[in-house]
Amino acid sequence: MDVADRVVVGGGIVGWSAALELIEREPGRRVVLVDDARSGRATPAGAGIATPFTRRDMGPDWSELLFGAMHAYDRLLPRLRDAGLDPGHQVVGRLLVALDEQEAESLPGVLERLRGRVAEHGSLGIGEPEIVDGATAATLHPLLAPTHGALLMPQVAQVDGRALQAALAARAQALGVVARTGRAELISDGAHLLGVRVDGERIGCERIVLATGAWTDALLEPLGLRSGVYPQRGQIVHARTDAAAPLPIVTSFTETYLLCFADGRLVMGPTREDSSGFEQTPTIGGLREMLERSHRLAPGVATAHWSEIRSGLRPMSHDGVPTMGEIAHLPGLVLATGLGAQGLTAGPHVGAWAAQIADGEAPPVPAAFSPQRWVGEAGRAVSASPAPPGA
Ligand SMILES: Cc1cc2nc3c(=O)[nH]c(=O)nc-3n(C[C@H](O)[C@H](O)[C@H](O)COP(=O)(O)OP(=O)(O)OC[C@H]3O[C@@H](n4cnc5c(N)ncnc54)[C@H](O)[C@@H]3O)c2cc1C
Repeated sequence: MDVADRVVVGGGIVGWSAALELIEREPGRRVVLVDDARSGRATPAGAGIATPFTRRDMGPDWSELLFGAMHAYDRLLPRLRDAGLDPGHQVVGRLLVALDEQEAESLPGVLERLRGRVAEHGSLGIGEPEIVDGATAATLHPLLAPTHGALLMPQVAQVDGRALQAALAARAQALGVVARTGRAELISDGAHLLGVRVDGERIGCERIVLATGAWTDALLEPLGLRSGVYPQRGQIVHARTDAAAPLPIVTSFTETYLLCFADGRLVMGPTREDSSGFEQTPTIGGLREMLERSHRLAPGVATAHWSEIRSGLRPMSHDGVPTMGEIAHLPGLVLATGLGAQGLTAGPHVGAWAAQIADGEAPPVPAAFSPQRWVGEAGRAVSASPAPPGA
């Protein structure tokens, strides 16, 4: 039997961030990360908008988390770059575009709310926001449809989820984290966490971070627990453009977005399919919807060259906020999931928090994120959802 000081299950952005933090906090200890590279993983499918501000107000806990995540990136990026790794992160700015008069009229209200958040949390990851007219928006982004103006957030970054995941994994393994490939199950005697079983082989460990995204309940259910997380399929289209790249991220009031990476890769979408279950295969309906919406937002995409469609399962929370923390009646089991559509933004921050909790510390995680809301007094799963699916 293998024995580890810490085990992380799940090798997406959250899991690898946790593993890196664990090994950096205490070099030399045995940290094992287990991942089964299943299809439908969210991190390699994610579009890559890393913004602390969302057009729809998600509440103060999310704001705290997302602005905090900008500082987590600020600490993480130099560590990866100094090690010679490319984290796939670039500040490109973001335009929230108004496609009609009505949307243009609501921009000042959005700017006012954003300025309030910046006054509270600082401008890292946003810069100095301003409303620009349609002509300025057109010069900033040549593929766009004529607009009625836009809210410009000049310091918003985009991140390539695959590049970041690879950089995190490379750095963590260079420092000694052991990567195991296989499907993990939790082992417990009911009151104590004993370890994980990976394809039949046991790894003894009393402190485990569960960063298994949309599949977290499959590990918890045998223990009578749950995470409040369900899979939401998201599809995005990738294409290539000859336009000067990179370009600012374009987001819209219809939740359609367009990213253009430095290598000319265009990313457009997404779909948000709450009733997908665990079926991650892309659909013709999804493709059609994305192409129509993207073309309306940016007719210039018509000349882009087709690359691929990516599809992944977002770990969505039934009550709209992440599930983050230790399960009180099963000490040592730390859940870190439920980041929904914000996981590429918040993943490094949440992963670092998970590592600190696994080390017995208490980072400032909002009380609303507690996994106890899904676990009854006796430690059994709460069967009814506290609120309908949200976020
Ligand atoms: C189309 C799309 C667009 C998105 N765009 C953005 C965006 O622009 N900005 C943003 O911030 N976020 C975005 N997201 C959300 C973001 O991608 C996710 O929130 C984030 O990647 C979740 O990371 P994770 O580590 O929690 O989960 P995942 O990346 O899904 O990782 C979970 C891992 O656990 C492993 N696993 C599960 N069960 C087991 C088991 N039993 N044993 C071993 N391994 C197991 C899986 O193989 C997987 O590797 C997008 C998502 C999608 C799908």
